[in-house]
Amino acid sequence: MTRSCDIIIAGGGMIGASLACALDGLGLDVVVVEAAPTPGSPTAPAVLDERSTALAPVTQRILQTLDIWPALAPEAEPIHRIHVSRRGGAGFTRLDAARDGVEALGYVVANRVLGEALAQRIEACDGVEVINSARVYGLDQLISGRGVAVTLETGDGRRTLESRALVAADGADSRCRRLLGIGAQRHDYGQSALVANLALRRPHDGLAYERFTRDGPMALLPMTGGRVALVLTLPQAEVAHWLACSDVALVAEVNRRLGGRLGEVEAVGARQSWPLSLVRATRLAAAHGVVIGNAAHTLHPVAGQGFNLGMRDMAVLAEAIAATPALEDSGWLQAYARKRYPDHCRLVGFSHGLVQLFGRRSPVPGPLLDIGLSGLDLCEIGKRGFVRAAMGLGPGLPRLARGLQLRGRPAP
Ligand SMILES: Cc1cc2nc3c(=O)[nH]c(=O)nc-3n(C[C@H](O)[C@H](O)[C@H](O)COP(=O)(O)OP(=O)(O)OC[C@H]3O[C@@H](n4cnc5c(N)ncnc54)[C@H](O)[C@@H]3O)c2cc1C
Repeated sequence: MTRSCDIIIAGGGMIGASLACALDGLGLDVVVVEAAPTPGSPTAPAVLDERSTALAPVTQRILQTLDIWPALAPEAEPIHRIHVSRRGGAGFTRLDAARDGVEALGYVVANRVLGEALAQRIEACDGVEVINSARVYGLDQLISGRGVAVTLETGDGRRTLESRALVAADGADSRCRRLLGIGAQRHDYGQSALVANLALRRPHDGLAYERFTRDGPMALLPMTGGRVALVLTLPQAEVAHWLACSDVALVAEVNRRLGGRLGEVEAVGARQSWPLSLVRATRLAAAHGVVIGNAAHTLHPVAGQGFNLGMRDMAVLAEAIAATPALEDSGWLQAYARKRYPDHCRLVGFSHGLVQLFGRRSPVPGPLLDIGLSGLDLCEIGKRGFVRAAMGLGPGLPRLARGLQLRGRPAP
């Protein structure tokens, strides 16, 4: 017999898994379909994602409300200060949590830690089933008009699930986005991000660096245990070289780009790379489904905002699901899409704009960029606005981001 549920979340990555946790306690029957094998199973990939994520304070508050933060807190390093500069120029901007009267400008957590905390929290959820090693393959609208039939490809063949709504959280190359009939605009940056964790000889003091170079931006984020997370953007053609070079050569390159600020490095962790592109869904909702997270917007990591934006999608969507008596109607999906549109436009424009502004083909001469950076450094009001945006603060924050639990669902 075909299994029927209220919501299918396609993709159990960091955004899909967070949504499943957020729906806990609403009395819904939720199925998460995830292509990767169950973590820790013999078929799970041996190499874990080496990336770390800078969590904006609003994201931290959402994780706190969902009771995921206690598992993360011991492994989360607060960012106290950020130093933004341009290689070859004299301008810089400094952001300081203490000056802005906040505890931290963000928190850095390893993706592995975040993934484990989410998996643990999902296990404690009522009404959430996770189907691993299964891919969403096909999608049909039910003849009754009351939802969708989703075909999964599993190791044992195909099976069908029925649901009142589908949430596509299946990443940048989202198959579900296509199945929902939603298009996507793409821009290939011709760059990759090389990621590695470095152990420093001197304390990092909670200082993060964002350094713009003509070849692409570089970020160093403070981590627990005196380590820093390196995100080095490179032209596509150079990635293989920097993945294979010696640790000494990599550290020398990072120091060269950072004007020697990094200092001595004790150890360099495993390296991984990600090709970078901007992907933006042409709309966010269809008749019986929505796209969220990277399936809706895949950003350049320059501003460290992709996950944070996805968490705001997730929090607004969870609130909309909690408030709607009829999940099979499309009105609430369209309302969700309208609500999220301005935040998406802001963040896509901001991250893409930064890459273009400081890149090789920048329309603005270097000295003017320096004046802009130094001008921002001197302008407290401008900096405060910048910090508020980076922290994820803005009008109309969803309940979960204000530390409030979701209200129970209305009767149909
Ligand atoms: C180098 C780098 C550094 C970054 N740093 C930051 C940062 O500091 N701060 C920040 O906010 N963001 C950062 N980001 C962005 C952030 O990593 C992403 O926005 C976030 O991981 C997106 O999560 P997601 O769950 O939407 O998508 P994904 O992580 O792509 O998850 C999608 C999931 O769907 C599954 N899937 C795919 N197809 C199917 C299918 N057909 N059926 C079922 N399941 C399927 C996949 O297995 C996967 O688990 C960074 C990105 C990069 C590349």
